[in-house]
Amino acid sequence: MPNNLTNLNIAFLPRSLVSYAGVEYGLINSQAGIKLVIRASPTLPVFDLFEGEHVGWNDQTLFIGPLNPHNAAALRAQIPWLRPTLLSLRTSAGMGDRLGLATPGHVRAIRSARTELAEAKIVPGDLAPIFAQQSIREMTRTGRTPQQVMDDATWGIFAEGWQGGVGADADHLKTPADIDLCLAAGFSFFTIDPGEYVDASAETASLSILRELAEKLPVDLQPRATGLLNQRFNIEGRSLYFDEPTLLKAVVKYGRAVSHVSAMYQHLIHAAGQQPYELEVSVDETEQPTTHAEHLYIASELRRLGVEWISLAPRFIGRFEKGADYIGDLTDFEVDIAGHAAIARQFGPYKLSLHSGSDKFSIYPAAMQQTGGLIHLKTAGTSYLEALRTIAVLDVDLFDEIYAFARGRYETDRSSYHVSAELVQAPLPQEVANWPRDTHSALLDQFDAREILHVTYGSILTERNSSSDNPLAEDWRFYDRIMALLKTNPDAYAANLERHFARHLKPFMSPIIHNRID
Ligand SMILES: [Zn+2]
Repeated sequence: MPNNLTNLNIAFLPRSLVSYAGVEYGLINSQAGIKLVIRASPTLPVFDLFEGEHVGWNDQTLFIGPLNPHNAAALRAQIPWLRPTLLSLRTSAGMGDRLGLATPGHVRAIRSARTELAEAKIVPGDLAPIFAQQSIREMTRTGRTPQQVMDDATWGIFAEGWQGGVGADADHLKTPADIDLCLAAGFSFFTIDPGEYVDASAETASLSILRELAEKLPVDLQPRATGLLNQRFNIEGRSLYFDEPTLLKAVVKYGRAVSHVSAMYQHLIHAAGQQPYELEVSVDETEQPTTHAEHLYIASELRRLGVEWISLAPRFIGRFEKGADYIGDLTDFEVDIAGHAAIARQFGPYKLSLHSGSDKFSIYPAAMQQTGGLIHLKTAGTSYLEALRTIAVLDVDLFDEIYAFARGRYETDRSSYHVSAELVQAPLPQEVANWPRDTHSALLDQFDAREILHVTYGSILTERNSSSDNPLAEDWRFYDRIMALLKTNPDAYAANLERHFARHLKPFMSPIIHNRID
């Protein structure tokens, strides 16, 4: 009998077993948690790369080690499909994971979406996934580092045997130091957010004020430097003309933002060295939508400044609230994204990126059609909500405690988000206590309660027990219980994610009418 790991009488996570370059790898669920197991001939130097213990096994060596950062890095170095790669213009979807346990469910969702399409006799389209994705704001709120985000995704990808390639999105980066941290952790997709440099006052400023503000910009950013004044563009039949007010407003609103993106890009290309990287530009977190003229201005300026990017997130019209479907007129949205998509084709091509993209089921078909698949879907908090849905079934008392606490935090935590939920509209904890115990997860389908739970994740995950005297002790009020429940019930969490994400991903794997200009 050959010395294969499958012949060992231990229970491997079934999809983790893999053989590469003469070495076998797998994960086992042991008393002490999940462990990495490797089998190879002792003549191969692979064991020196990992931390753990090894023993002789017939003529082979068997290794067992922890799921630690060192071993995650070693695994990425050994197995090519675990390393983030460039997604370029492939239709793609980012599935952020604030707890670090969602990747298995995300992988299963892709497979399940494919299967569902195939069963409907539809050939599934290519979809490139991103499992490691977190913004600096989310990392701050969850107390995680870029390396933890990367490693958690690595273990999830490995556990599920996903070999289809992955990107890794360092999301909403604001400073060069953010770039350095995420490069060091192996991220490959860099989302630059120049939001702090967007001047929203341009929306309502008079022409004379706009002229004054434009004069204050560095000469290289002023209207005359753009070459756009009195230019008319024909974008697939749409006429866009830069008269003075249109150009001034774009320059004042986005000039410094464009310059910041350029500086961040220069930093990235120098800091990256041989590491692969690709760039997304996001201006989605503004009050007012990005007009088509403003989008064209941004694209034209980025190009003039030598920036290369693969996707851009405008602020589309309508409301993109967290964890909720699109709020607005669907026809207006389709007209809006059609114009943005046409600019993206003409000035790129590059993808449009749909931020706060989770749960926007009503606009996915239009987004896919109008971009011809040149689209990136970005979701983050919705996976956390599925974790709460899982907890509502596994431990309803904990779930109720989380909900009551979230309500108390909402008015504070909502400030940095676009949400319209009202506390008075969300069921009171006292009412919920009287519901049948197996129905509390319905809170996740009530608009207000859902948004309240969505934006308070940072407070929930970092709240300490009031009894804790030592401020440095990691005496979490909710975090440890949440993680323990999800870790002991991985399939329950994965099943919720699989169902929820298959619904997200299917529209982006469905056939499209190609309406690009080739
Ligand atoms: Zn965003």
